[in-house]
Amino acid sequence: MNFAESERLQKLLIKSGWENTDDINKADVVIAIGCSIRQKAENRVLSFLKSNKHLKKNGVVLGLLGCTANLYGEKILKQLPFLDIVCGPNHLASIPDILTGCTGKEIIIRTGENNNPFVQYIPSKNDVTMDVPITKGCNNFCSYCVVPLARGKLKSRKREDILREVKCAVEKGIKSVTLLGQNVNEYGKDLTDGYDFADLVREIAEIDGLLRIGFLTSHPEDTGEKILQTMAECPKVFKHLHIPLQSGSNKILKAMNRKYTVEKFLKVVEMARNMMPEISITSDIMVGFPGETEQDFRKTCEIVEKTRFNELFIFKYSPRPMTKAYGMKDDTPKEEKERRHKIILDMQRKISNEILSSFTGKTCQVLAEKISVKNPLQIIGKNIQGIPVAFQCNKNILGKIVKVKIINHREGILCGSICEEDLLLQGLQYQEKTQK
Ligand code: SF4
Repeated sequence: MNFAESERLQKLLIKSGWENTDDINKADVVIAIGCSIRQKAENRVLSFLKSNKHLKKNGVVLGLLGCTANLYGEKILKQLPFLDIVCGPNHLASIPDILTGCTGKEIIIRTGENNNPFVQYIPSKNDVTMDVPITKGCNNFCSYCVVPLARGKLKSRKREDILREVKCAVEKGIKSVTLLGQNVNEYGKDLTDGYDFADLVREIAEIDGLLRIGFLTSHPEDTGEKILQTMAECPKVFKHLHIPLQSGSNKILKAMNRKYTVEKFLKVVEMARNMMPEISITSDIMVGFPGETEQDFRKTCEIVEKTRFNELFIFKYSPRPMTKAYGMKDDTPKEEKERRHKIILDMQRKISNEILSSFTGKTCQVLAEKISVKNPLQIIGKNIQGIPVAFQCNKNILGKIVKVKIINHREGILCGSICEEDLLLQGLQYQEKTQK
């Protein structure tokens, strides 16, 4: 979400006449979008700003944006008194106006709720993919999470605005969209017309010229038959579900206020796999939540082993201020959290490796999304399961779906070679160049 918002803000500023610079010493304005989901992320943004406070002497405007700004509001000035702007994620669209009115003499603070917290997307030439925030905030109050405090209550974006934005972007060349929300399944719950997330996905799937639709993140409690059916029936929708488990122990899930049980989670996974046998399922796991015993941890390991996720994002619990869990005793020592993290990581690496190896020799339909940063002769795309695929080809295939035969995999990416006959059928030229 932060990445999507930064990208939108950057484009909005460029449209308003600002220029981007990679050299901080040439900047007139330095703004950092802070993430507060974990202590480590928060420390990083605070230390970045502290280490650049000397720029203020040269008249540079310094701002803290995003969740960290909203969470602490003006209290952050005790730590960062040199800031000119403190602006929460619901006010990013006002940044060009704020900068115009910023004299450096007074501190501008914009936090809290906003009726229209969404920043409009401005497509650039050659963009193939686009992230589309469809909700802001969250009403779930998982006991460890700052999001409801940092981003406020759930707010669904108007469907007309989403559809207009996607249609306009597709006309400019966008081929794939990822719908974003802290819990996408809650889309529409704050509206009154009964239109829900699955309805939105179906309507977006009808847009001509759009080839792929993905979404993040699904909450196990709210992932039901309707959205899974929609995924199964719409060929444009990625057969990929990111559905955070967090823990394999019902006791810990209850303490986390996750509102589902392990059994319910497994049922959702089973239903998804029955409807879409090829589906890739990824998840999040948190180790060392207050009260997590060795037995609870073992239960998580069992579910990881049994479910065989394509990929897992594993986190060590860190207490976040103002959350319910902050009042609980953080009783798992750092070394023990690290041990548990490593056990699950090793287990998952083996599973991911086996799943990726099973693609060897198979042919995938891949949307060519971008040129690799490391190798300009390589294209990176995604197959229908949302798994990244790398292959050699020239850039005139960007935005096209091509057939790629998988040869092996490296660092979570499938590597393959493009099927020449398919390119000929599509009237595309193939230029393989060997790298020196
Ligand atoms: S669902 Fe829970 S973990 Fe996810 S954003 Fe909402 S409160 Fe945080």
